[in-house]
Amino acid sequence: MTLHLVVGAVTDVGRVRDHNEDAFLVDDQLGLFAVADGMGGHQAGEVASATALEALRAAVTSGEGIRDAVTSANDAVYEKSTTDDRLRGMGTTLTAGTLAAGDTLLLGHVGDSRAYVLRDHQLERLTTDHSLVEELIQAGELTEAQAEHDPRRSMITRALGIEPSVDVDLYPVQVHDGDRLLLCSDGLTGMVGEDEIEAVLTEEHDPTQAARRLIDEANSAGGIDNITVLIVDLVDAERQTAAVPIVTDDQPAPAETPAEQPPEEAPEEPPAPRPRRTRGRRRLRRVLLWALPVVVVLGVAFGFVDYYAHHTYFVGNDGGRVTVFQGRQGGLLFWNPTVKDRTSLRTSTLTPADASQVRAGHGQFGSVGGANAYIAGLRARAAQTRRHTLGNQPVTPTTAAGPAAPAAP
Ligand code: MG
Repeated sequence: MTLHLVVGAVTDVGRVRDHNEDAFLVDDQLGLFAVADGMGGHQAGEVASATALEALRAAVTSGEGIRDAVTSANDAVYEKSTTDDRLRGMGTTLTAGTLAAGDTLLLGHVGDSRAYVLRDHQLERLTTDHSLVEELIQAGELTEAQAEHDPRRSMITRALGIEPSVDVDLYPVQVHDGDRLLLCSDGLTGMVGEDEIEAVLTEEHDPTQAARRLIDEANSAGGIDNITVLIVDLVDAERQTAAVPIVTDDQPAPAETPAEQPPEEAPEEPPAPRPRRTRGRRRLRRVLLWALPVVVVLGVAFGFVDYYAHHTYFVGNDGGRVTVFQGRQGGLLFWNPTVKDRTSLRTSTLTPADASQVRAGHGQFGSVGGANAYIAGLRARAAQTRRHTLGNQPVTPTTAAGPAAPAAP
């Protein structure tokens, strides 16, 4: 049997983002289709996804198998990101499919975009996300239901373009006439449940219409990310002559190939699970790679504000007394000033100029000592004024209880 591909694909910016970093590729001649979800500052995410798809197509054109082609895409993105400062740190997911001999679909996959197959009205996921929450689910630390609302949902543990080499998961999938494939970015699966996706794919016959409906569903649910939906219907050539045939230049005629014959890259797959520790370490390194800069920046910023808010003092009025406050006048973000030391010195006994200064809050002292020195000055000036008023009575300006002796005015 010769299977033809009938493809419908739509990408949408969503309802929150201002540009679309997702991209898809459909090449009828090569029988190649792919979805990429780019990430990176400014326009770098778009560059990453476009670069990956371009390199993927070139590699498949030159005869590379799908896994090597995804590796070539990694090289292309990495090369661009390390030679152009504006693109530094960019990356992309890539989920790519091609039909090989024996009606075997070969999927190459890195990241958290997904591939599904709808067969007999049942949706089945083909790929495993390279994401933090997926790792936590596998480790039994998170349930699928919890993962749906986990704020770390979009953190991925593997992407193209981040490191000079990348592990590509390869999935050989035996496909049949009537199968419907779905490739999509996390902008769909983060917004729309699998039951709903299954219902739309089952109900809507036309692949482009089905893709549009899924995009609409994701947008109705909030559309917080870019959304890409690529649907491939696999149709028997004799049943659907209008479909685009797959070119199989370098492969034996599919009609004569027994279904059991392994595809070109099948012996390597599915990837054997790595020893636990190595996996753990690689995972940690990748998670850190993505998360660390953000954590460091937030930590430094928090520490700086915290330090700034707490290691500064001013002198103000609290309950009629001259008081040393710790913090910034008026507070800073959610750090409010606190009373450090309420002195016995009454604000009303200060010189009029000092009193209004204190009532308004005075100074940015780096230490309590600085604030105390200023208060000593206040006492001295207050005492001097009193001396002028009362005559030459002896006063002790720096003694707390001294000059304010007539307790309440
Ligand atoms: Mg996304």
